[in-house]
Amino acid sequence: MISYMQHCHFINPFKSHSELKKGRYILIFVLILLGLSTYAKETPLQKVSLQLKWKHQFQFAGYYAAIEKGYYKDAGLDVSLIEADEEHNPVDQVFNNKAQFGIGNTNLLIYRSQGYSPVILASIFQHSPIVLVASKNSGITYIHDLAGKTIAMEPNTAEIVALIKSEGMSMNQIHIVDHSFDVNPLLSGQVDAMSAYTTDELFLLNEANFDYNTISPSMAGIDFYSDVLFTTQEFIDKNPELVEKFRSASLKGWQYALKNPEEIIELIHTKYGQRHSIKHLKNEAQQMQKIILPDVVEIGYTNKGRWETIAKIYRNLQLLPKDFNLHGFFYSDYIKPRYTIHWKLLGIFMALLTLVGGLTFYFYNTSKKLKSLIFQQQIFEKELSESEKRYRLLVDGANEGILVAQDGRIKFINNRMTELLEYSKEKILASPLGQFIHEEDRLKVLENYEKRINNKVVENNYHVRIIPQTNTIKWIEISGTRIICENKPATLNFINDITNRKAAEIEIQNKNQELSKLVSEKDQFISILAHDLRSPFSSLLGFTRILNENLMVMSMQETQEVSNTIRKSTEHIYQLLENLLEWSSLQRKKSSFKAVQINAADTVTKIIQLFNDWAVNKQILIIEEIPKDAAITADQHMFETILRNLISNAIKFSNPGGTIIIKVEQTSNETLISVKDTGIGMDKTMVDEIFQINNQNYRHGTDNEPSTGLGLLICKEFVELHGGKIWINASPNLGSEFIFTIPSSLE
Ligand code: ADP
Repeated sequence: MISYMQHCHFINPFKSHSELKKGRYILIFVLILLGLSTYAKETPLQKVSLQLKWKHQFQFAGYYAAIEKGYYKDAGLDVSLIEADEEHNPVDQVFNNKAQFGIGNTNLLIYRSQGYSPVILASIFQHSPIVLVASKNSGITYIHDLAGKTIAMEPNTAEIVALIKSEGMSMNQIHIVDHSFDVNPLLSGQVDAMSAYTTDELFLLNEANFDYNTISPSMAGIDFYSDVLFTTQEFIDKNPELVEKFRSASLKGWQYALKNPEEIIELIHTKYGQRHSIKHLKNEAQQMQKIILPDVVEIGYTNKGRWETIAKIYRNLQLLPKDFNLHGFFYSDYIKPRYTIHWKLLGIFMALLTLVGGLTFYFYNTSKKLKSLIFQQQIFEKELSESEKRYRLLVDGANEGILVAQDGRIKFINNRMTELLEYSKEKILASPLGQFIHEEDRLKVLENYEKRINNKVVENNYHVRIIPQTNTIKWIEISGTRIICENKPATLNFINDITNRKAAEIEIQNKNQELSKLVSEKDQFISILAHDLRSPFSSLLGFTRILNENLMVMSMQETQEVSNTIRKSTEHIYQLLENLLEWSSLQRKKSSFKAVQINAADTVTKIIQLFNDWAVNKQILIIEEIPKDAAITADQHMFETILRNLISNAIKFSNPGGTIIIKVEQTSNETLISVKDTGIGMDKTMVDEIFQINNQNYRHGTDNEPSTGLGLLICKEFVELHGGKIWINASPNLGSEFIFTIPSSLE
């Protein structure tokens, strides 16, 4: 049982070395998976914004394409495009950190000279599309015609400024107003001229059939880059990788847009507003091909020499200081040499090396710990098996039966239990609970088991019978307790064989019953003596006193009457004494039983003669229906006593004029003798209690004859000593019939 119980409570964490190894491999595998999954986990997109230099139109096609085609997203970027508005200078927006990237012009050189730090990432427009456009009517054909005129200029149009200055004019000679991002001021004559993109506004003027002249900076040899993608030096320093990713995704976007202008035009029109018609956008796309020159140079191509030339023009125009240089102005100044990638690889390698080293150390450590755990486990198991052996010896050597029950079955028994049940251990363990219990006690055992399993109050030390293999019933005493085995409730029961104790108990119980019967009989005896002897004796004393005191004065007749009464009292006392003696000798087993052949008819006649006077006095007719040769084998004295009592009762409880029939019938098995009267009879309760010593049903006869209440007891005892039976058929006022049998086996 201990081994079983140990299994119930001990959970072995590492059952074997092979399982341990398996566990280790699983752990490594899980760690690798964890590492991979962490690596593979998506990092959130980095948010950046690009400040456009104008409203949404094909001018920024490359950036829409890069968003739409997911080039930015693939680079880990979430790019938002900010349209230019009338209130803010878009280049300033970048320097004010409102956007990380911007689209500018060559005047970024001026910003740089003023302490800002723009860096050119790509020169998208190889030639500037900016021109000055003036209505034909204004008469403006050359740059000098601008003097005193009102011109709308968008910010940062350095080419125009350069053009004006290169022609020896001062900006003060011209009245410059803000550009309203449309051509209406020119159409309406509000302004005389305006800066415009050849790619954009000219289309509108054409559409409006507006006659105009254009003055292009290129006319004065000013051939600038335009729509330059830029960021700040500070931003590159902090986010070199991000800038690289943004730049290449943007250029990829440009390549796509210029190859698929129709698709991007559609995209702009549906997603970015319908400020421009499709036709307008198409025109813009066509014009842009001419200045981006994708078929001639790589998109975004930046030629440092051209920029030097541009800077020189600016310097000549005194827009840049003489000592200005372009160092740090180009993105190529910030691209780290290739070997930095090797450092990165080296870094990764080192990190991996550290990780592997760490893991090796971890596993070495873990394995060391596990080894020590296994060693402890082995020691524990050894101790356990030894202690198990000791406990098994104890359990199997116990003089008490031990039984564990679970799920309604016997789960464990010790040796003593097999001795008690006399079946093999296998047979017992394969049996349901209650199998070997006496059927009258089975329910009790099963109920108690259920109660105990469900933690309810159970009677402990209860007694039941078991039926072992030899079928000789044994009494056992069960005391139990609830335990938990394998996470389930069970009962642990201790069982003692109490067959001998139970037999002794039953005997004591019987003896007690016998004793209390004797005591009650003795009480009866004493009460009879006290009560029943008293009254006849007192009347005897009374009458003898009368006789003694009045004998001289009494007549003969009076004397005879008194002496008659004395005789009756004496006879009654005699009968009573005889009954008492008879009964008491019976109790002391003094009566000796001697079976002899008796002639039934003769014996009955002899008894009737005893009561003849009495019956005649009460005018009672006694009829004998007895075969003359009816012979009975019985104890003479007892047989006569029975008859005497039954016949005298029949006379005593018959009314005058009644009839008594005494019948004897014989079969091969027995003789049946009945005494039937037509007297006062008995009710059912009286019939049921009449043969008990303590019955209180004795009554005076119809002529006030006294009763002792012993006669029928004696009759019953004597009949039973013969092996016969006695019973009564009676009902109140309809008479009684006493019947008894004497078996023929006595012959
Ligand atoms: P007793 O010796 O005083 O007659 P019994 O034991 O013979 O006492 O009878 C006990 C009682 O049984 C009587 O007092 C009477 O009440 C009832 N009894 C016995 N025989 C008869 C009978 N033949 N008819 C009616 N009652 C009877």
